[in-house]
Amino acid sequence: MKRTEIGTLGEFGLIEKITKDYKPTQKSTIKGIGDDAAVIENSNFKTVVSTDLLVEGIHFDMTYTPLKHLGYKAVVVNLSDIYAMNATPKQITVSLAISSRFSVEAIEELYRGIYLACEMYGVDLIGGDTTSSQKGLMISVTAIGQGETDKLAYRDGAKVGDLLCVSGDLGASFLGLQLLEREKHIYKDHPEMQPVFDGNDYLLKRQLKPEARKDIIEQFAKAKLVPTSMIDISDGLGSEILHICKSSGVGAFVEEGQVPIQEETYQAAIKFKMDPITCALSGGEDYELLFSIDPKDLEKVRFMNDIYIIGEVVEAKDGAILHTKGGNRHPISAQGWKHFSQEK
Ligand code: ADP
Ligand code: MG
Repeated sequence: MKRTEIGTLGEFGLIEKITKDYKPTQKSTIKGIGDDAAVIENSNFKTVVSTDLLVEGIHFDMTYTPLKHLGYKAVVVNLSDIYAMNATPKQITVSLAISSRFSVEAIEELYRGIYLACEMYGVDLIGGDTTSSQKGLMISVTAIGQGETDKLAYRDGAKVGDLLCVSGDLGASFLGLQLLEREKHIYKDHPEMQPVFDGNDYLLKRQLKPEARKDIIEQFAKAKLVPTSMIDISDGLGSEILHICKSSGVGAFVEEGQVPIQEETYQAAIKFKMDPITCALSGGEDYELLFSIDPKDLEKVRFMNDIYIIGEVVEAKDGAILHTKGGNRHPISAQGWKHFSQEK
């Protein structure tokens, strides 16, 4: 591939190159890229904002992350936070710190993923910032969305007796990462060997190109359902349940047999000598939604696509407990992904 040093274009030239063919499409975007600040029309809506910072070597590994996927994922994980408020993302900003290891073409590839996510989810890229870094790549995405005052779903609204639900299946992304890490280590010692991923497309897709649950929020709107609480699953189901319990001042029980785990995930967990339910509880990066509903809304979720009732909200004194298939009770712990604990 052709390699153009970023230095030959400079910061302004690079921004021009990655944004020149782009046109915003959202009604609420009054002014996008090209002024000192973007302008958003928000009429009667509440503005919902979320930011993430992704650092090379901590949150992503360039040895197995294609740049286009990285751009796509960086946007999607932010949109997921807006959906988790039962709101609709409309705009994003993207800020980059880039080391000289990255060429203009590499950044263009990153933006192909960013623009694809914008198109898929109906959001506009309205600005950002670009600077150099001494080492590695850093990407910060801010998502801005619209929420209706009485429809926003916070972490603190779960009530005793509510049903706990998740969208989609869990644990696959974590096992996808284990596969990639395994092949990376084999490659380090045996560069002549080709990676073996056969039969694990789903796990890799969940890790490298996750999706945010726009469709679930749309189903809620259609059914006029407002979850009593909601959070997206980025650190693992266990950790997110504890967040809702703490914020809402409640406890929870989860039925192991009701936690959705795909067959491919199940098989991979066994191969890695891990317990599938542990992968679902502690894996993370699923970007599914965990939410509670009032039991009177049970009929509404029963007919929704891809929603699983996994347990119930109980009193705080009863704690957060997993009822295993074997009839045992285990306290749920937050062994989510702790990026800080990986520091050596
Ligand atoms: P300023 O000097 O006011 O910070 P910049 O020269 O950094 O302006 O940016 C010019 C325009 O390009 C602004 O609208 C800014 O939001 C946008 N922009 C800068 N970097 C990026 C980026 N990485 N992605 C998208 N838009 C960007
Ligand atoms: Mg700037």
